[in-house]
Amino acid sequence: MAAKPHAVCIPCPFQGHITPMLKVAKLLHHKGFHITFVNTEYNHKRLLRSRGPNSLHGLPDFRFETIPDGLPPSDDDNVTQDVFSLLEFFSTDRFDPFSHLLRKLNDGSVSASSNVPKITCIVSDYIISFPMTAAEEFNVPCVCLWIASAVSFVCFAQFPRLVETGLTPVTSESGLTKEYLDTVIDWMPGMEDIRFKDLPSMVRTTDPNDEMLRHLVKQASEDCKASALILNTFESLEKDALETISSAKGGIPVYSIGPLHLLADQIVDDESDSIDSNLWIEQSECIEWLDSKEAESVIYVSFGSVAVTSAQKVIEIAWGLANSKQPFLWIIRPDLVKGGSAILQPDFLIETEGRGLLASWCRQNEVLKHPSIGGFLSHMGWNSMIESVAAGVPMLCLPILADQQTNSWLACTKLGIGMEIEEDVKRDQVQMLVRELMKGEKGLEMKAKAIGWKEKATEACSPGGSSFENLDKLLTDVLCSPT
Ligand code: UDP
Repeated sequence: MAAKPHAVCIPCPFQGHITPMLKVAKLLHHKGFHITFVNTEYNHKRLLRSRGPNSLHGLPDFRFETIPDGLPPSDDDNVTQDVFSLLEFFSTDRFDPFSHLLRKLNDGSVSASSNVPKITCIVSDYIISFPMTAAEEFNVPCVCLWIASAVSFVCFAQFPRLVETGLTPVTSESGLTKEYLDTVIDWMPGMEDIRFKDLPSMVRTTDPNDEMLRHLVKQASEDCKASALILNTFESLEKDALETISSAKGGIPVYSIGPLHLLADQIVDDESDSIDSNLWIEQSECIEWLDSKEAESVIYVSFGSVAVTSAQKVIEIAWGLANSKQPFLWIIRPDLVKGGSAILQPDFLIETEGRGLLASWCRQNEVLKHPSIGGFLSHMGWNSMIESVAAGVPMLCLPILADQQTNSWLACTKLGIGMEIEEDVKRDQVQMLVRELMKGEKGLEMKAKAIGWKEKATEACSPGGSSFENLDKLLTDVLCSPT
């Protein structure tokens, strides 16, 4: 019998990257691949802690391996690591441990089992380059997963033109006037009337020579050496941006196969389905609590896995929620607030008793699909947004950094399923928007549109749908595997 194809999947070591990469790994596994999933040692330990000691033993043909992240050891090994240091270390000098691991996989010395087939492809996070260099060394294709929106990809591809037109780099971010931030850019392909402030924070830079920015701009250009690009989106959701990317990529095939969690739910029915990627322990009482609430009455609030905000903003959000009189489920990670844990005043807790549930982590996907959820106040990380789209839940958008601003623009302006909260958060606005979303006319319109997008997402992931078919095309065109 011919050996199985063997895909080595390596995400950037953040929750929002590990989760979609794991979905890709499960899809490939289901299509007959042997999988090696590479985490950092630090995250592997966290996953063992949150998922249980047996959780990552995997299956005989779905294995987990680790490489060090390059950071100095830390005292607390159960927190989100500093994003910027981790990016710097992980993206620059991880080639040696990774290629060492690949050699061991190929010579069979990594596993007690002799049945590990030779590596046939690498699936890399788009924002790191060492796996691509390793793929060249091992002479296998490297497929890159862009875990963010297609519209944010377009912004990186257009960075040279933004520089040419003098919009970026900016001299100092803090000195930017409202007029400057509101400058309308009328030439971004497929992104009519996007404002300067809607661009990814990295593009609105003061330093155009920043290593990560340069890497992302290069990756988004024709110089990128990937064998294919895959995105966690679907054709009807980001049609214009996907067309722009396909025509700009100079022949590199582009496949949108999202929402990945829906496609995996649709296709994967083997034992790998139970492998999970949450770095935090979920509080199961969230679902029980939601069960006790009326249909579409609860607003879910979460800022994802890495965003940090100020204590003042947390207090404004808290009182906005309290004064809206709507039930809410709010995920407050222990490290959400800059320089300390989020302390909410006792009068807020008394005021919202029975109506509000605070938790440190939940199964977000399950929560969003719960019939009691009527809206999502989100930081607009792409996973959160695509999960909300797939669940038919309209959003209040409070973007903080990275591509979140651009996703918010997409939700509010193009898709009609979001309303934005001003950056300088005020409780009165939060209260007003929560009530509008949950009870107002605009909220009803947004809900109807969100249901429409949910149907389109389901269609894309069903047999004959674009994401379903694109996965098969990726396998036959690039990974040369029977589907
Ligand atoms: N998430 C979760 N439980 C929570 C909060 C977040 O499972 O309590 C998941 C969420 O479903 C998403 C990921 O964490 O898949 C966050 O990714 P996203 O891109 O939204 O934001 P990031 O964390 O990268 O800023």
